[in-house]
Amino acid sequence: MKKLFAVLLAAAMLWGLAACGAPEKAEFSLFAMDTYMTLVAYGDEASDALTESARAINDLEQRLSRTREGSEIRAVNHSGRAAIDSETAALLTEALVFSAETDGAFDITVAPLVDLWAINSDSPHIPSQAEIDALLPLIGCDHVTVDGSAVTLDVGCAIDLGGIAKGYASDVVAEIFAEHGIKSGTVSLGGNVYVCGKRPDGKPWNVAVQDPQGDGYACMLSLTDTFAVTSGGYQRYFTAEDGTVYQHIIDPATGYPARSDLLSVTVVCPSGTRADAYSTALYVMGEEAAIRFWESQQAGDHAFEAVFVTADGRIACTPGLADQFVPQEDASYEVQLLNR
Ligand code: AMP
Ligand code: MG
Repeated sequence: MKKLFAVLLAAAMLWGLAACGAPEKAEFSLFAMDTYMTLVAYGDEASDALTESARAINDLEQRLSRTREGSEIRAVNHSGRAAIDSETAALLTEALVFSAETDGAFDITVAPLVDLWAINSDSPHIPSQAEIDALLPLIGCDHVTVDGSAVTLDVGCAIDLGGIAKGYASDVVAEIFAEHGIKSGTVSLGGNVYVCGKRPDGKPWNVAVQDPQGDGYACMLSLTDTFAVTSGGYQRYFTAEDGTVYQHIIDPATGYPARSDLLSVTVVCPSGTRADAYSTALYVMGEEAAIRFWESQQAGDHAFEAVFVTADGRIACTPGLADQFVPQEDASYEVQLLNR
């Protein structure tokens, strides 16, 4: 892995020392956490920031992966109890809070169901109701106990951080950027975007919300210094022989892939981890409950903005994004601004 990392570093890093004192630009791409990632930074320490960020992402993957030999999460799932790094323990604790906040729509204990359906694998499986029913009692965050650096799972339970790891990685990268004095940059970790400051020309960054039904984009958001995370059934799915599409986000209440009336949810807020958890949860909830959840969070510390692309052809946008929302003229969606 180290070798691969070194090769990627050498191959993908492009240095551009622009003329006339313009800030140094560094750019880096890598494949990690099962997705393509691109990082761009402007600043005197841009190259160091990206080298450190790439190393941190690889370290996180090694720690948080469910399948990697030697990973902390694999150890927890294998033995039902393991000592973990304090940062991982803090992330698990946060994940349990997100689960409570979203009434279980976001739930890291979906792991046994994720394995049963195996939608992200080469051999997905359509289980019987009996197979699903056998696993449902194992789902629920009360099966997880974090005590200091020790994590314990009830027998048969397992955890999957796939719904939060990339968002967490984007928070870690944002910290590294700050430590290196980076005032401008973008980080795209497969649907998880962090925009640092403004563009070098002083304008906001344009973040495209992908069209879940096509190759282009559904709309654009003009954003500064924030995180924008998208979840959607279109990102990973398989189509059965009878034409039924099974997508990768599981409804923990039913054990089935969520049958959402949303095609995608983009959450914009100052925490990548939270945006990642919420976007997954809101997709599971569906439009009505997602909007109720958005309303319920407005008054507190965890307010967020969102863009919902609905299965019936609308883009519903929360009012806090009204000034940042840039419609895509060719897209066929009807745009709606939600009321506060
Ligand atoms: P995301 O792309 O962030 O929406 O996360 C989806 C990934 O999280 C899936 O591929 C699973 O690994 C995992 N996952 C699936 N359903 C859930 C859920 N309801 N809560 C938390 N994680 C989930
Ligand atoms: Mg997520």
